[in-house]
Amino acid sequence: MASGNPTRTTCPYCGVGCGVVATPQDDGSVAIKGDERHPANVGRLCSKGSALGETLGLNDRLTHPEIDGRRASWNEALDLVAARFVETIAEHGPESVALYGSGQLLTEDYYVANKLMKGFIGAANIDTNSRLCMASSVAGHIRAFGSDTVPGTYEDLEEADLVVLVGSNMTWCHPVLFQRLLAARERRGTKIVVIDPRRTVTAEAADLHLAVAPNSDVALFAGLLDHLDRMGLCDSAYVDTHTSGLDAALQAARECGFPGALNATRLPAEQLREFYTLWSRSERVVTAYSQGVNQSVTGTDKVNAIINCHMLTGRIGRPGMGPFSLTGQPNAMGGREVGGLANMLAAHLDINSASHRALVRSFWNSPRIAEKPGLKAVDLFRAVGEGQVKAIWIMGTNPADSLPDADAVQEALRRCPFVVVSDVVRTDTTRHAHVLLPAAAWAEKSGTVTNSERRISRQRSFLKPPGEARPDWRIICDVAARMGFADAFDYQSPAEIFREHAALSGLANDGRRDFDISACADLSEKAYDVLEPFQWPRRSGEALDAGTTRFFAEGGFYTPDRRGRFVPTPLAVQSVSSDFPLVLNTGRIRDQWHTMTRTAKTPRLMSHYAESFCEIHSDDAEDAGIAPATLVRIVTPQGTALVRALVTERQQKGSIFAPMHWTDQQTGKGRIGSAVLAAVDPISGQPALKSSCARIEPFEAAWYGFAVLRNKPEIIHADYWAIARAEGGWRVELAGSEPVEDWTIYATDLIRSGEGTETLSYMDQDQASFRLATFSGDTLVGALFIAPQPVAVSRTWAVEHLKADAITGAERLRLLSGRPGLDQPDPGPIVCACFSVGANQIAAAVEHGSTSVEAVGAALRAGTNCGSCRVEIRRLIDAAALKKAV
Ligand code: SF4
Repeated sequence: MASGNPTRTTCPYCGVGCGVVATPQDDGSVAIKGDERHPANVGRLCSKGSALGETLGLNDRLTHPEIDGRRASWNEALDLVAARFVETIAEHGPESVALYGSGQLLTEDYYVANKLMKGFIGAANIDTNSRLCMASSVAGHIRAFGSDTVPGTYEDLEEADLVVLVGSNMTWCHPVLFQRLLAARERRGTKIVVIDPRRTVTAEAADLHLAVAPNSDVALFAGLLDHLDRMGLCDSAYVDTHTSGLDAALQAARECGFPGALNATRLPAEQLREFYTLWSRSERVVTAYSQGVNQSVTGTDKVNAIINCHMLTGRIGRPGMGPFSLTGQPNAMGGREVGGLANMLAAHLDINSASHRALVRSFWNSPRIAEKPGLKAVDLFRAVGEGQVKAIWIMGTNPADSLPDADAVQEALRRCPFVVVSDVVRTDTTRHAHVLLPAAAWAEKSGTVTNSERRISRQRSFLKPPGEARPDWRIICDVAARMGFADAFDYQSPAEIFREHAALSGLANDGRRDFDISACADLSEKAYDVLEPFQWPRRSGEALDAGTTRFFAEGGFYTPDRRGRFVPTPLAVQSVSSDFPLVLNTGRIRDQWHTMTRTAKTPRLMSHYAESFCEIHSDDAEDAGIAPATLVRIVTPQGTALVRALVTERQQKGSIFAPMHWTDQQTGKGRIGSAVLAAVDPISGQPALKSSCARIEPFEAAWYGFAVLRNKPEIIHADYWAIARAEGGWRVELAGSEPVEDWTIYATDLIRSGEGTETLSYMDQDQASFRLATFSGDTLVGALFIAPQPVAVSRTWAVEHLKADAITGAERLRLLSGRPGLDQPDPGPIVCACFSVGANQIAAAVEHGSTSVEAVGAALRAGTNCGSCRVEIRRLIDAAALKKAV
């Protein structure tokens, strides 16, 4: 841990699971680069991974336990948690308590949490935010394979002739993997098809984009199954030897057929035909999918409709072919391995099987074992609200924002008699904690994570936890000991937990279960320390570096008859109504992660989108009377959110999109979770976060504002506000529905300038536009721009004044005018976050002859690091060419 020692660890963001090398510097900063020895990324990192070093500041860290908002000792806090859980269980039974975890937890954290809940408390009320991410994939896998198995590997995306991305904006959500895919396309001409109602940046990079109607994927793949069968592409040898249930699945598919698929997807017939032909003719085809498939009331059926096509053609488990679930989180897979979901046991054992329960109970030597599945995330918080769950412990996640019907979740937490939260920073959830426990953060934790291709990697600590913060596994074991289970939780290190987890995976396995890492059951501390990334399974005696593993090329499914199961997938219809005629889709954006507890710390990542927004097709915007860049109210039967209107043809008519990230910490009324309906897939329990029915309404603004501030305001008085970090301070978007009497007083209150400052201001004749800038010596303390329309000031240019150390005479006047001088070109909105390159800079480079993405990269470096912005650069080049042509 000494300064200057590089540590090989793993990125804490998406399911790609990139290797990271972190090197603490003498000045206290940490240099981050991609690990060239890690097979997932071979040295590459995306914008989020590259900025990890900027997220390690301790300003807002929780550093000591709190009880009811006052500082407490660890002993006091842990005693209270254990006592309240024991009392609640004694009085109301084991199902009256719950744990709610996160795909951010390490496998070792997850393992002990699951062991405590299922084996020692004796109920299965442990669920996780991974329920929101990939529960439908788990359910679909189990229905088809008898186990939660991802059959393929990342290499398959590079070895395929056709890669179909379903409901996956891979360019932004799995950026490094997408760059691997693009590199493979360069080498071998891979065809890429994107199936997505939105024309995302991924769709723009594809060879074919199918802009299907929302939730029509089941029909699309049922139609494909029928087509493949009619074309004689059924691999009879594979189907007859290794599968069951084809007739029923085919019958359902025939009822849909080409006409049904056409009707449901609303695609042009020739486009649908083109896709079916492409799929039919490509032996090496990978169908990769993520939240657009999983987060749906028919998510599990979507997964099975895809798997059916691969099993019919035998295109599974061989190089370059197979269905592929891309997990959203860094350790969603690890959570699944230890059984960290309410409907799983541990080590891929079945909670519904008495013999499996007995096996785990005897291995744990536990006094009891959960007899049935527990409550899944949405139902769990409903049960908290209804008083059935009386004590809940939330670990490393923010359900008050991220769950659907988020206001009801907040209300449930407010009413819950006992709420424990262990986390790294304060969030909208920690507000409700009776006991707040400071957890160690990414840079301070040791353990393992598993990425989307079943590759287990070490996460290694390289910084000491600040204050009294502790690793999650330690906190859980300390509580377990106080609840009377000291012997079973007497672990001295994460390695010891990992060994136990590995041993359990091999228990009575003999190839009967997919998950087996018993080769690690005797790993020494030293060997755990230097463990290289490896893919499971690794059965006892197998070498960890044995290379790539795939499943099911030769059958060997984990169903009772070892046959893969075809699943009939009935068609579903997306419902809207005249009151709520639109479909609200929510999702991730390029530079943000979940509820922004880390990514909002870095100005670089806040510069791509500094506030939340709603993408609306121009026809829908016109119908609702919403002009570009004004504010729009998204209204659903559940609630409302107020965000910026982004009118774009990339959005399909009848659908709108809003990012999932913004919370009450960064915006007033812009939290989209308030508006999302709490509908779930009935099989997986995964919320349908992408298909709430909604309408849009214009926000009648009397004024709009934009401010750059050195100091963060304590309170912002505005009907709408969104605040983001900027280099040297903060940037704030504002709007109000009522006129403000005195803008100078408003500005002074917002800027908090203090004594000895100098202020310049300007008010136009009709009193509608106002500008004010305050300086302390030669530097800017804050500037406020007010207009009756959305403020037309270059944000990037204005923000740059916060870090300027000498703003004099003419520059002050220019700042007040809101227009840069010719000697200060406006960079425009940031496109490349890695090198902070703006749209205007790219446009200027194009104007000067850089007419390819590579040439722009050579001129400005934009797009040369993670590559996530290359599609946006291409878009700017094309727009410039079009402008020239007309
Ligand atoms: Fe992290 Fe980006 Fe790699 Fe995902 S693609 S693991 S966010 S560096």
